[in-house]
Amino acid sequence: MNDRGLLIIFSGPSGVGKGTVRREIFNTLEHDFEYSISMTTRKKRASEVDGVDYFFRTREEFEKMIKNNQMLEYAKYIENYYGTPLQYVNQTLDNGKDVFLEIEVKGAAQVKEKMPDGVFIFLIPPDLDELRERIVNRGTDSSEMIEERMKVAQKEIEMMSFYDYAVINDKVTLAAKRVKDIIAGEHFRVERVIGKYLKMIQEYNQ
Ligand code: 5GP
Repeated sequence: MNDRGLLIIFSGPSGVGKGTVRREIFNTLEHDFEYSISMTTRKKRASEVDGVDYFFRTREEFEKMIKNNQMLEYAKYIENYYGTPLQYVNQTLDNGKDVFLEIEVKGAAQVKEKMPDGVFIFLIPPDLDELRERIVNRGTDSSEMIEERMKVAQKEIEMMSFYDYAVINDKVTLAAKRVKDIIAGEHFRVERVIGKYLKMIQEYNQ
């Protein structure tokens, strides 16, 4: 029987670059964990593919999944639902594979409640000026919106205390490597290994 895989929760304040670091990990680094494709009700962007970037669903379809307890977590972010379908996560973990979630902080807090033995990784900006610059450079927001987003981001940064690791996103390639190294290291924690050996000893002495 396989050991159950690790659930990796990768989160951080909005605007910090979670998606960019996640893509760097999955597109350029060798890795042996699976990405959990999220479901969303937001409109598909021209560059995105249904079933690859997200499962794009209607609000009714999403709410039905919630009602049937088929979501591990979900959150509303800028008027749209985003969430993690539960079945894929459980199946993949049961098959002994690690699963990587890239989600915003409210959803991560729900996972912490349900699956506290996950590996919680928080991506942080080097400083607040840099975060502001990233939000401004997205180029979509009015100045009031930018200040509003900065306030939200500051509150989100305070949520770091619920996480196991804080990774600074000073450079995308470095941040991606740090995340990958953390995941590798997690497998060697004594509490993740000891059960298997205690069982081996028991069986050996039977
Ligand atoms: P975007 O619309 O830019 O792709 O994503 C918006 C935000 O939703 C990002 O912060 C992203 O990390 C977050 N997000 C993506 N998928 C999920 C999910 O399954 N659950 C939650 N809670 N947030 C998600």
